[in-house]
Amino acid sequence: MKTLKTWVTVPDNSDFSIYNLPFGIFSVNGDTPRAGIAIGKQIIDLAAISDLGLIAVNASYFRQRTLNEFISLGKKITNKVRLDVQRLLTVENSPLKNHSEVFVSQQDAKMYLPVHVGDYTDFYSSIEHATNVGKMFRDPENALLPNWRHIPVGYHGRASSIVVSGTDIRRPMGQVKTNDMEVPVFKASGNLDFELEMGFIVGKSTELGERISTQEAAEHIFGLVLFNDWSARDIQKWEYVPLGPFLGKSFASSMSPWIVTLEALEPFKVQGPEQQPEVLSYLKYEGENNYDIKLEVGMSSSTSEETTISKSNFKYMYWNMMQQLAHHTVNGCNINVGDVMASGTISGKDESSYGSLLEISWGGKKPFELKDGSARTFIEDNDTVTMRGFAEKDGKRVGFGQVTGTILPST
Ligand code: CA
Repeated sequence: MKTLKTWVTVPDNSDFSIYNLPFGIFSVNGDTPRAGIAIGKQIIDLAAISDLGLIAVNASYFRQRTLNEFISLGKKITNKVRLDVQRLLTVENSPLKNHSEVFVSQQDAKMYLPVHVGDYTDFYSSIEHATNVGKMFRDPENALLPNWRHIPVGYHGRASSIVVSGTDIRRPMGQVKTNDMEVPVFKASGNLDFELEMGFIVGKSTELGERISTQEAAEHIFGLVLFNDWSARDIQKWEYVPLGPFLGKSFASSMSPWIVTLEALEPFKVQGPEQQPEVLSYLKYEGENNYDIKLEVGMSSSTSEETTISKSNFKYMYWNMMQQLAHHTVNGCNINVGDVMASGTISGKDESSYGSLLEISWGGKKPFELKDGSARTFIEDNDTVTMRGFAEKDGKRVGFGQVTGTILPST
């Protein structure tokens, strides 16, 4: 990776270094939401620099509530915009030095969901997570179902309830039936959980009937976000047979506001785990398709400051994004720009890397402590869950910021 130097002040540990330059939608003081790129503690207003004639995309693509139309221009153009901004932020005689009005402090900005999400798919691609859940929900001896090593298992989630980081989440109500009950009851979920995931944003649509190969898949991925797939375990446990997750998941999912492009993550590619048995030919891939992205989950409450409760890594994924996309379209199902495809909970091998409370508290049997000494198994009202993620190599850091959400009591 070539070393770049920007004339903008960027703190050493910033997720938004000159190597990153992620896209998002922001507004300031209640003005119109529009597209920007994050650098350090600031945002560059893309519409404003387009008005100055400094990038070759019309400002109308940036004066929008979502990035969908801009992303639809294709990678050739979106990559050029990112690289043009990178150049404007590094050259000595940059015209931007005389235009401080194109910079906005992130502190003053309100962030929005960066894309209109037409469809949302959630995979189940961490072998450690699937094994842990299988042990608890089904059979400790045969935790993985027979299809798991052959199919990147997934389900169609609910797009309408995806919210941007910082949005409060209401504890869901639903049907619950534990083993000691004769009949189900209607109540507030008592086993509310998070799922540490990453999601990718589709950047190139396909027609119905078209298939994407693992080799072509990267062309269809605009970038990645942090994703919290909130889950009500008690509702889920009662409802999920035979068709899978429904109301235990659809009440809300939270997404980080900045989309880190696949190109910015290129230097952090690593080899994925060995897949045994051998996968079918349409799922075979070449090269490095996993990404070394460090992830962590913090939990705080009205009485306790934030406690780190998990440290995981996106590189643990058994099935990679290219395989997920190839599988998703192998039957001819079309995809659209702005679709979100989430990884599934990202757990590692040891307990400190589990990506959900279901695993951390082992189904509620093993309470853990927050910093103030209060015990938790699942999420209580007014608890806040914050996920962070970044990649780093040779002192060069590309990060995602955070996705955070606070649970409010049910009504
Ligand atoms: Ca999930």
